[in-house]
Amino acid sequence: PGGPSQPLPVLGREVTVPLVTGGEVAYAALDYAASAPALQRVWDDVAAYAPYYGSVHRGAGYLSQLSTDLFENSRAAVAEFLGCRPDDQVVFTRSTTDSLNLLAAALPGGCEVFVFETEHHASLLPWRTARVTYLDAPQTPGQAVAALEGALADRHDPYGPALVCVTGASNVTGEIWPVRELAAAAHAHGARIVLDAAQLAPHHPVDIAELDVDWVAFSGHKLYAPFGAGVLAGRADWLREAEPYLAGGGASRTVARRADGGVDVEWHDTAARHEAGSPNVIGAYAIASACRALAGFGFDALVAREQRLVDTVRAGLAEVPGVRVLSLFGDDSPRVGVISFVVDGWNSSHFAAALSAEYGIGVRDGLFCAHPLVRALLGGDPEQSAGCGAPEALNAIRVSFGAGTPDEHVERFVRAVRELVRDGARWLYRTEAGRCVP
Ligand code: PMP
Repeated sequence: PGGPSQPLPVLGREVTVPLVTGGEVAYAALDYAASAPALQRVWDDVAAYAPYYGSVHRGAGYLSQLSTDLFENSRAAVAEFLGCRPDDQVVFTRSTTDSLNLLAAALPGGCEVFVFETEHHASLLPWRTARVTYLDAPQTPGQAVAALEGALADRHDPYGPALVCVTGASNVTGEIWPVRELAAAAHAHGARIVLDAAQLAPHHPVDIAELDVDWVAFSGHKLYAPFGAGVLAGRADWLREAEPYLAGGGASRTVARRADGGVDVEWHDTAARHEAGSPNVIGAYAIASACRALAGFGFDALVAREQRLVDTVRAGLAEVPGVRVLSLFGDDSPRVGVISFVVDGWNSSHFAAALSAEYGIGVRDGLFCAHPLVRALLGGDPEQSAGCGAPEALNAIRVSFGAGTPDEHVERFVRAVRELVRDGARWLYRTEAGRCVP
């Protein structure tokens, strides 16, 4: 990259600054689906809080009260962003993974869970104490709804509690799922539904009441806020009736010794019940700031612009021989700015490395924490992905982008794919005596 260097504290070495040349961001980090760059106005808002920084829910001091207000106002801002119903709770968590694990820990006894095999592991795996039905990858949105209806109709206890967990937009294909229809199907069968909006919320409006879902989970670091905080928002009843996710201060209203020597605990029945310990005020505040910024940009404009970038990538990739874009619902299905593909004759990891080294483009290669989905899309066993040559390399390349991605980054990506496929043979490896050699 050849830019100037600067020392980075903690890392303990100089790093080259390939980030900005001539006012343009030169390194194209097209990996928004993993973590999107935090918006400048979010960093600015966080910095503006520095002089007021103080403990939360703990102190009588002015700064403490300010921090507490900031934390609670952040909760209200998220509720507004998600269009929450008056009785909904907004719980601040660490991430989508944390949010879904919290809900899994709050399932009522005997709850059955229904989940498509195409989910990210964060929504596929947390339901360890429930009876889980895994639904096969559907080929159309309509098939997804029909499959869910069939499974719910056949459930073990038609009157018992049931939960459907579904992603709003796939982190592999970017395809948008028929959330409203799935929610209607769930409710028609007396089940509840949680929306994994990790990939949808940064790209599309998510209105909990309008979609009629019971809960929404998302992560700040994919929604243009920094790492470390996420949200679970929705129905209060299951959350209020559940044991606290973490036990400790903040979650407990009163704790007293009993005559028999034990302790009695009365837990809060607000969101605080599941937020034991000193809360991540900055994380919550940054999420609220990002929500405010997105609402300010307006999703109509964001969606329209992102769709233009999606079209540029789709059209560009369609012209490159040997490139196959991954899709469950067909090439023309609506999708957010997340596109995965494989290239004939190429190992996806080498392709991604070449994009970074030669073009300054950061994408992700691999299985994207969605092994069964990648297995369904590529056919075969992703565990065998360690091979050097393409035929046995069952992993893919993912490019993803969103608000603030310059057109130039996407155009550079399309040009880079075209050039690498045409004359990138120096990047092709083969296996010799079990080892990768150039
Ligand atoms: N769900 C989906 C659809 C995702 O894309 C991701 C992150 N890749 C997650 C859940 C998990 O998010 P986090 O790692 O922030 O918990």
